[in-house]
This record gives sequence, structure tokens and C-alpha cells, in this order.
Amino acid sequence: MPVFRPRGAVSFDRRNLTWKGVEAVSVLTLDGRTLVPVKMGDWQKVQFRNVRGEFFLHYRRGRFYLVVVVEEPEPPLRRAEGVLGVDLGIVNLAVDSDGNIHKGDCVDQLRVRTERLKASLQRRGTKSARRHMRKVAGKESRFRKHMNHVISKELVARAKGTRRAIALEELEGVCSGRTVPRPQRRRQFSWAYRQLRRFITYKAKRAGVPVIPVPPQGTSRQCPRCRYEASGNRKSRVLFECRRCGLAGPADYIAAVNIAARAAVDRPIVPRSSVGGLVLPQGQAVLPER
Ligand SMILES: [Zn+2]
Repeated sequence: MPVFRPRGAVSFDRRNLTWKGVEAVSVLTLDGRTLVPVKMGDWQKVQFRNVRGEFFLHYRRGRFYLVVVVEEPEPPLRRAEGVLGVDLGIVNLAVDSDGNIHKGDCVDQLRVRTERLKASLQRRGTKSARRHMRKVAGKESRFRKHMNHVISKELVARAKGTRRAIALEELEGVCSGRTVPRPQRRRQFSWAYRQLRRFITYKAKRAGVPVIPVPPQGTSRQCPRCRYEASGNRKSRVLFECRRCGLAGPADYIAAVNIAARAAVDRPIVPRSSVGGLVLPQGQAVLPER
């Protein structure tokens, strides 16, 4: 038996909800039709052109929100002339195969601070402490969401500007071939990691940039130059060093290059950065003399 909360969301369609321009909406209530004024931002007004006949009324902390479903026409996918590989969340939030690093330092600092604060509030356990805790958690997730928007926007713009597709690792189940060190496991499977992935995917779609999923197995253990794969290639959490040919670099950058190369192999796309001439981010990597 389904259980309904007294203030759960209510869904509407065109039979019981009609729009009066973008200024007001007429809703069928238990007391008959009620005209409710609506406030809409400029961006929402533009989007409103693509409105569909589905609406949800939410009640949250003393306010009513009307969720409007819009259908956005998708531009046709462009033909990609290369691949931008993106590795998410090993050490940094995102690193691409061009060597651009999106650190998560400030996010991490905030998370650590938040967690400490939450723990101390939890110990206190009072009603006001709980309320404070909710507030703190909300602040953290809004900040992370904002960061994810910024990062995904940049990545998609870079791919679009260089007419490349974006390659990402497939979302993996809990039993995966890629061993993730403990502190990272949390991040790998966290909602924020999935959110960033989701943002990249939908922004890419919107921009007509193809997204190519790549199997994640071994992307951080294989050498992009000589193809030698071994867990020993991972010198540490952050550093990759090939045991056979000596190629070294930041582990997440190496993974991003591998991801790009795999996507290019799967599809008839020539990868842009040839593996021999890895351009490594400044001051982070050493290419040994051969
Ligand atoms: Zn190698």
C-alpha cells in the first residue's frame, strides 16, 4: 500500500491547470478554480516556450513551488574531430586530457569543516543543533552544485570550441575492476561525483557535443605510451610512473589521456594529442629521457 504524506507533491496537467500567459496560473483546487499569480525570471520566460503539460506542486518550508516541465529541443550532434578525455574525482574533481585541472580544494576544505561541525552538532543533539546541521549541509551541497556547474560548463565549452567529443568513464557498479583507494571510494560513488557527470552529459547534449562512455577498467594503471598495464604503475595516489618505459605524470591526467585514447579507438576518431608527445601540466610531471 502506498503511503502519502499529507503535504506530498501534487501533479497537475492541462485539464486542471491552465496558464494565463506567464503572469498567472489557474489551478483547480478543492474550492474550485483559483487564480494564482506567478513570478518568473527572464531565463524561465524564454524556457517557457517549450513548456509541456506536466506540472508538480511542491510544498517546502512554508512555500509553494510549481515545477514546470519543459522540453528542450536538442541540437543535432556535431561530428567530432577528436576526443577530450575527462577523468573525474581521483585527486581533483576533474582533469582533462589537455592537462586542465579542476581542483576541488575549496570543496574539500568546506567538506572537512562541515563534517567537523556536523559531528559536534550531532553530539549536542538538541533541536536547534539539528536545525543548524540541516542548514550547514544545505550550504555544502549548494556550493558543490555550483562548482559542478562551473566545471561542466568549462569542459563542454572546451570540447565544443575545439570540435571534440567528450569521453567519460562509464558509471560503474560497486564491484569494479578499477581499485579505488579508500579515501577516494567515497568520492567515486558520492552523489556529487554523479552530479558532475550528469551535468557534463546534459550540457554536452545541449551543445551538440557527443559524449562517449569508456569502460573504466585500468584507465589509471595503463601507460598511454607503451600500453603496459600494471598496478605498480601507480606510484602513489597522485602519481603515475610506467614501470616499463618510465613515463611519469599525475595519475588523473594519465587516466584522462587513456580515456580519450580509448574513446578514439572505439570510434573512427583520430585522437588529438598523440601519446608520444604528452603535454604534461606544468611543474607536475617529468618525462624521462629516452
Ligand atoms: Zn610505458
